[in-house]
Amino acid sequence: MSIIVQKFGGTSVADSEKILAAARKAVRAQKEGHQVVMVVSAMGKNTDLLIDLARQIHKDPPAREMDMLLSTGEQVSVALMAMAIDSLGQQAISFTGAQIGIKTDSTYTKARIRSIATDRMRQSLDEGKIVIAAGFQGIDEGFNITTLGRGGSDTTAVALAAVLHADVCEIFTDVDGVYTTDPRLVPDARRVNRISYDEMLELASAGAGVMHNRSIEFAKKFNVPVHVRSSFSDNPGTLICAEPEAPGQPVCGTALVRNEARVTLLGVPDRPGAATAVFSRVAARNVAMDMIVQNVGANGLAEISFTVFRDDLPATLKAVEEATREIGAAGYNYDDNVSKVSVVGLGMATQPGVAEKMFRALAEKEINILMISTSEIKISVLVDRDVAVDALRTMHSAFQLDVQPDCVPKEVIGAAASRLNNNTADVVARMQGMEDLIIEGITLDESQARVTLVGVPDRPGLAAHVFEQIAAGGIVVDMIVQSVGREGQATLSFTVPQTDLAKSLETAGRLAKELNCGAPTSCPRVAKLAVSGTGMRSHTGVARRLFQCLADVGINVDMISTSEMQISVVVDGSQGQKAQDALRKKFADVMV
Ligand code: ASP
Ligand code: MG
Repeated sequence: MSIIVQKFGGTSVADSEKILAAARKAVRAQKEGHQVVMVVSAMGKNTDLLIDLARQIHKDPPAREMDMLLSTGEQVSVALMAMAIDSLGQQAISFTGAQIGIKTDSTYTKARIRSIATDRMRQSLDEGKIVIAAGFQGIDEGFNITTLGRGGSDTTAVALAAVLHADVCEIFTDVDGVYTTDPRLVPDARRVNRISYDEMLELASAGAGVMHNRSIEFAKKFNVPVHVRSSFSDNPGTLICAEPEAPGQPVCGTALVRNEARVTLLGVPDRPGAATAVFSRVAARNVAMDMIVQNVGANGLAEISFTVFRDDLPATLKAVEEATREIGAAGYNYDDNVSKVSVVGLGMATQPGVAEKMFRALAEKEINILMISTSEIKISVLVDRDVAVDALRTMHSAFQLDVQPDCVPKEVIGAAASRLNNNTADVVARMQGMEDLIIEGITLDESQARVTLVGVPDRPGLAAHVFEQIAAGGIVVDMIVQSVGREGQATLSFTVPQTDLAKSLETAGRLAKELNCGAPTSCPRVAKLAVSGTGMRSHTGVARRLFQCLADVGINVDMISTSEMQISVVVDGSQGQKAQDALRKKFADVMV
């Protein structure tokens, strides 16, 4: 019999009326012939209230007790939900995370799921009951109650759907699906019918706050179709699955992270280990870096720029100060008034021209780009905060995201027959935890060359101009990295096919003269290594491990770009194989 998991968030169970409405949805699904598992969050703002209460008593409450407290919110909801179902004349049984057997590690307040027992749920389902599971909670080896982090009920729901091989995991929420961008900022944002896991992951980390990111990682890993839909209507919402909405479309969405800060280390000795020194110091202060961009500079000196959430800037600067001294960098600067705007789409991996179009649209609005980082399916730029929303709107209309693409997908819910590819299932089974990091590939591309322009004037329209000129020569640029260094100057590095290097350099030379900056530098043969996987960002330390590994074997990194699913580095062409071997060894324990 088919199983459906239905998750109801806090707003969908905020009062008795809403609980009854949710119960009716579950009963209806059961009457349609499905076995139904409900996952519910704490009512309304209850979790916030509990946190507030705890803080009134203790300014830094013990984490174990925090989880003990917060788990009660969901316990209230499941009991009431079971009563609601009973009142509708159907049978139901509520379970806490512990009663189901959701085993987690012991990282209180952000525990990760290790395993889930299915016997008890299956038995109840087979008895005709609707199973109601408390979201967001589990139990560790020592029988301590743990929680999965704010918003964690999504992760519970997708995880239950995965272990039960459910047909679909429905996420009922107060919005009716996933939008091309935040409709509050861009009124003509469009609800998408379908979006791929990869796109959703990138968009979420780029600022789109629809679902708990770990739940999407779960869904991807176990191939669970997720249907995000409104609790207050019966309209279909957005299906998150392996396929994109319209395969031919280069961009599916755009997102904004408003409060970022940029830090740049200047004059970094361009030698193995410099990046690691910086990253490990920042990580040691528990700060997550967002965009990371490293650029080969002039005279053997590199620039490392990265962004962090603005609130993390003070701690970051302390780390950077230490690192500057340790590695003998010339200095650093920062800007705490910046925002990140990204465009995401599976299609851009195969279609050139997205970057130029993005840069041109921004240029036309006279919006200056401070930093650029590109990955397979995402391009992010950093801009001043006061033009960020304008930049977001500009992207949205440049890629006509308000327009429904031609090939609207057919109904795919329930047809996700290619469930759980066996290989992945095996690996996951071998690993200790369902939520562990997995690395799917470490690829080496030895076909590229690098071109770098140093001292480019930092003003609107420059990136557009440069990449249009390059594209005009029929050259397809692969990776682009821009950082701002000294006042008013940017460094722009990009990779092109080796066979196009001469032509690229000719164009770059012309541009350098025109822009009055130094002659371009280049490397005729670079190696690009891309490490991709699931959980690359939510498991902190992956980037650090990667850079440490390369430093240990004496390999210098020329360019870096990071995304949710991939970290790419460019090294000298002669080092490619060595780098790949070292990385494969380093990540052997988590490779699929
Ligand atoms: N109640 C928890 C929270 O508010 C979990 C959830 O809603 O997903 O974060
Ligand atoms: Mg919530």
